[in-house]
Amino acid sequence: MTTTGAAARSGRQRVAIVTGAARGIGAAIASRLADDGMAVAVVDVDEQAGARTANAILEAGGLAIAVAADVADETAADAAVDRVVSELGPVTVLVNNAGIIADNLIFKMTVDDWDSVLDVHLRGAFLMTRAAQAYMTQAKWGRIINLSSTSALGNRGQVNYAAAKAGMQGFTKTLALELGKFGVTANAIAPGFIDTEMTQATAERLGVDFDDWKVAVSRDIPVGRVGQPEDIAAVASFFCREEAGYVSGQVIYVAGGPRS
Ligand code: NAP
Repeated sequence: MTTTGAAARSGRQRVAIVTGAARGIGAAIASRLADDGMAVAVVDVDEQAGARTANAILEAGGLAIAVAADVADETAADAAVDRVVSELGPVTVLVNNAGIIADNLIFKMTVDDWDSVLDVHLRGAFLMTRAAQAYMTQAKWGRIINLSSTSALGNRGQVNYAAAKAGMQGFTKTLALELGKFGVTANAIAPGFIDTEMTQATAERLGVDFDDWKVAVSRDIPVGRVGQPEDIAAVASFFCREEAGYVSGQVIYVAGGPRS
């Protein structure tokens, strides 16, 4: 699904890519950035679900396209960025949000569990960033936002995911060092418990009712509730603002309390 994208191509509108934006946190970030006035590319493996996010943005009066790609695949990641640039214009905002979980205790974790999680989060963020940064350095302006997690601090049953999310923090800080002189900032958001299909899948694996679990988890969260995707989208929106240009290489924990 495409739109004309004339305003974006003429340079009047910033162009953002949000990966894994078919649902959950990514969909909320895509909608928020569109509300902020950006042309948004919804990149996801699930093409139909990605089109639903893009259509919702179009129906709300924004500009969006859906692009099907596995971010962990080098050819697909490069092709996705090329397509966004040709349809919307040079990309200057990239949100590396695509993610999966494959939880298990270390003695039961398979090599595939390890590789698949590291591939989507870290290799995917690397491939998408490598392809998109060229347009940001050329424009002398850019914003890269990477999704980390409170699990980066350690979380039982998530040795693969914790390593990937800690890796996202080092990746972010190094991008900030390398790209700052081009007017490009890089920051990470580390969410705590957010109400999405990812946490719902964890509840199913643990054999607990999702609603009951959210109530129980809320008791340990200082603000007394679980997070919503919009809580993360608000922080992503801030990092993209002009006046956030002096904020780079940071990790902000969005967890209803201090988690770092
Ligand atoms: P989600 O509901 O599972 O959504 C993730 C999206 O990413 C899905 O649409 C998924 O598509 C897509 N995706 C997976 N692999 C992909 C790939 N290789 N290429 C492109 N897209 C891919 O997850 P979420 O809860 O919104 O989480 C979003 C991000 O926040 C993730 O990085 C996650 O680790 C992080 N995070 C979440 C929480 C939380 O509590 N929910 C907390 C901390 C951090 P398919 O379903 O079709 O695979």
